[in-house]
Amino acid sequence: MTVRRAPAYPPPVPAPHAPARLAALRRRLLAWWDAGHRPLPWRQPQRGADPYRVWLAEVMLQQTQVVTATPYWLRFVERWPTLEALAAARDEDVLAAWSGLGYYARCRNLLAAAREALRRHGGLPSGYDALRALPGFGPYTAGAVASIAFAAPVPAVDGNVTRVLSRLFLVEGDPAARAARARVAALAAALVDRERPGDLNQALMELGATVCRPSPDCARCPVAARCAARAAGRAAELPPPRRRPDKVRLVLACAVVVREGRVALVRRPAGGLFAGLAAFPAAEVGPGAEAGAALEREARERHGLRLRAGEELGRVERVLTHRLLELRALRCSLARPPPEEGIRWIPADELDGAGLPAAMRALAGVVCDVLGQAPPPSGGARDRGRARARANSLAPPRDFV
Ligand code: SF4
Repeated sequence: MTVRRAPAYPPPVPAPHAPARLAALRRRLLAWWDAGHRPLPWRQPQRGADPYRVWLAEVMLQQTQVVTATPYWLRFVERWPTLEALAAARDEDVLAAWSGLGYYARCRNLLAAAREALRRHGGLPSGYDALRALPGFGPYTAGAVASIAFAAPVPAVDGNVTRVLSRLFLVEGDPAARAARARVAALAAALVDRERPGDLNQALMELGATVCRPSPDCARCPVAARCAARAAGRAAELPPPRRRPDKVRLVLACAVVVREGRVALVRRPAGGLFAGLAAFPAAEVGPGAEAGAALEREARERHGLRLRAGEELGRVERVLTHRLLELRALRCSLARPPPEEGIRWIPADELDGAGLPAAMRALAGVVCDVLGQAPPPSGGARDRGRARARANSLAPPRDFV
């Protein structure tokens, strides 16, 4: 009887270039890195890098631009300068400090991983496999931390590095497809520098972020002479754009309840959108459903809040990774006294520091305009402008208990 073996994954990929060519690429990339790169605050020499700070930066930079992540990173390392300090912090304080950075699962994983790393290893472990076993450590994050902070000879392949390698080695096909991913992974592994793996990985990331961007600037590229896509005149067409599924529209009705100048906030459930964050009481509004009725029902069942939903005060829209989110603020009054627990009453001008997710902070700006209160210091300027005409038509500010 013939026994069929399942194909190995990732499939073996023949090295596309002779070792001498790979060595030349490494030399060029490292020389370019050494000649100067963006002086980002978390960047440190290969030897002596603080693993906690490297890791924090890598987590914050996922799906987030440097200009957005930098002030958050600076605030975090000032407030929680070590892994031990972060692990000992209260969840709600860390989530509030993360507020506005989005993708909150990253923050919850950050906390879980800090605590587990301390418990199991006494700190962040240096090996790729041990890092990979911690919450939130995917192949990229584990590779980045292991190579940058511990000089482990492993690759770190993110979207930028995928683009660079696809062009350097003329990798065809959807970069998210299994075959292309395996090929890029094999190329990255072949290219690892055993002496300075972290610097080489960062050079590839930096090249993708500053030169080999979606519209490549090949004239400034240190490896242009060795780039297969450029030689073929196909630099700008590789890798092909990913096919993304249509985004699903999600409408959340948000209750604005004000009592004695303070606004009611609750904590979101532990799973799902904005999990664990401070938020306006909110309800998902399905197609054809009535927002006020959905909000009254959800507030009663989830928070014990008996509300009467009134007029709409404003809207905010946000594009999330897989969804189009629409928040609608509804003026609500209390039909019964609120429960003693589970509701926080926050002065309107302190909503910015209450740990709301960014979309709700923007909605808070709209609401404050409508109420005639000082708006939160940040967030929502654009949305407030959108809602201003509506605000002007509303009654003067008052408490609506
Ligand atoms: S030559 Fe152009 S396409 Fe090739 S790696 Fe450099 S910037 Fe990217």
